[in-house]
Amino acid sequence: RKAAYAALRDLAPETRDGHRVTVMVNAGLRDDVAVLDLTGADGIGLFRTEFQFLVSATLPQRERQQRLYREVLDASGSRPVIFRTVDIGGDKALPYLTHTGEEENPAMGWRALRLALERDGLMKAQARALLEAGAGRTLNVMFPMVSEPWEFDEAKALFEAQRAFLHQRNKRLPLEVRYGAMLEVPALAYQLDVLLPNIDFLSIGTNDLTQFLFAADRANPKLADRYDWLSGSILRFLRRVIVPAREAGVPVAVCGEMGGRPLEAMALIGIGLDRLSITPAAVGPVKAMIRTLDRAALTAFMDELLVRPPRDMRGALAAWATERGV
Ligand code: PEP
Ligand code: MG
Repeated sequence: RKAAYAALRDLAPETRDGHRVTVMVNAGLRDDVAVLDLTGADGIGLFRTEFQFLVSATLPQRERQQRLYREVLDASGSRPVIFRTVDIGGDKALPYLTHTGEEENPAMGWRALRLALERDGLMKAQARALLEAGAGRTLNVMFPMVSEPWEFDEAKALFEAQRAFLHQRNKRLPLEVRYGAMLEVPALAYQLDVLLPNIDFLSIGTNDLTQFLFAADRANPKLADRYDWLSGSILRFLRRVIVPAREAGVPVAVCGEMGGRPLEAMALIGIGLDRLSITPAAVGPVKAMIRTLDRAALTAFMDELLVRPPRDMRGALAAWATERGV
């Protein structure tokens, strides 16, 4: 099986009816970039920059951040890398960052962009590191845990101010900077019309999104059976995000673990998604699934299924897949 997936490395993730799906990987460490060549993935759809902070005993200074980003960009060559600004705070507390102390609900706490916009020294340093590392190329930046459109606007403005600062000092800059938002807080979905005109891309973080949608802690094993990623609520919710984003011409991806499971990835493609960023080990199995799909038939099936979602959505999807040799 492993050999079969390796053989897929140089084959495109394209459905039988000729629809190309973009399959990228999630990464966070320098050495993760090697998986691009091993899997034949289209790029890094989520680079979790907080990993460098989490494995470090002291706050990584700007030069160290910049070195990592440049190494990752060099090793990725022409394949795009999407850097997510630090998602720290909450349960990913750093000993060298003084914070407000224990929180009762860290996942819903003072974390990610909420912390970064307030402690903006950290964000400014990261912006400078990313902008300098991206000199002469396209830089893709995305912000985690955006709850309201103004948070994205503020984060982008912070980056743009750093860009102007570097420009004044005659520093080499990226040819282009593209800014994206992560959708992982359900509230943001209700202001998509406000957000979409301002962003260059959208990435749905289904790990956090589903825990908030179902009010079910993603880290509590007792709740693991309480809901399924293949539920009518999740798939309907995602479709209501994906469709308007596509209509607005904004590329939209899923970067949560959901997309790395073949049956879930199939359902996502069936509701109109064509970009996935997944764990490297899932690239082979997901590519194999995509290459057996008839996308038009799948879309028709999903449309019908979501009119009245069955209780056993997973069973219905699995049966459909088996019947068609997916
Ligand atoms: C997510 O929430 O789905 C996501 C991709 O981010 P993380 O898992 O790092 O919270
Ligand atoms: Mg998240």
